[in-house]
Amino acid sequence: MTIFIGVASFIFGSVVGSFLNVCIYRLPREESILTPGSRCQHCSKHIAWYDNIPFISFIMLRRRCRHCQGIISSRYFLVEFLTAGIFLSLFLKLGVSPEFFIYLPLVSGLILITFIDFDHWIIPDVVTLPGIILGIVLSTLHPEIQREILHFSAVSATRLSGFFSSVFGAFVGGFFLYLTGVIGRKIAKKEVMGGGDVKLLAMIGAFLGWQLTALTIFLSAFAGSVVGIIAKIRKGESYLPYGPYLALGAVFSVFWGKAIIEWYIRHLLRGGS
Ligand SMILES: [Zn+2]
Repeated sequence: MTIFIGVASFIFGSVVGSFLNVCIYRLPREESILTPGSRCQHCSKHIAWYDNIPFISFIMLRRRCRHCQGIISSRYFLVEFLTAGIFLSLFLKLGVSPEFFIYLPLVSGLILITFIDFDHWIIPDVVTLPGIILGIVLSTLHPEIQREILHFSAVSATRLSGFFSSVFGAFVGGFFLYLTGVIGRKIAKKEVMGGGDVKLLAMIGAFLGWQLTALTIFLSAFAGSVVGIIAKIRKGESYLPYGPYLALGAVFSVFWGKAIIEWYIRHLLRGGS
């Protein structure tokens, strides 16, 4: 049964990944994500469903359009595979639980934002703003997700605590980056933090609560600095989109955040006594 659901999550992930590919291409161009159906980017011919099956069509058609033989970007394969892999990993970690279903839309949104930010240096509000609301709603419906890492506190999770914890997480995330942007602008005399990043971290905060959001900030700053320094040395590039690192930090926090924070607290308590 586990194998069956595991395979099902992987296939479901690949289908969602396929849809994310459409959104990654169309959202920044302000095209509808529903109509028309998938089209070849070279010849604009409609892509039939049998040529649009995740992985399989890509391999069968040898990365080429059936009509014009134009090369299909391997990005499509990557996004499908990444989404499928993360969905499967979430299932293996959480089983079929409310947490599993709450994190699915979160990671899908993060994958979407990552690739749009890489390509266009924007983080669309149509993803982050509904994302913030969804995070708050789901945390209210299932408050346990917000006190996952707070289980050492005796307070039980209620709808109200889930709601406030989520709103507070969104506030902490948004406010921290907003402040970073204001201070950065004063020091660097230029824009260092986009408004999209602020809303993205607010969305992450609404899903993860303030503790995991703090960890996300730490992890993304670390990953962003390492990559930023390498990029600067290699290409003299000084601007990098920050969204992908926030997304990476958030996914890392979903999988290992609880373990990291508990390890840290145990160490802190032992160090203090
Ligand atoms: Zn074509």
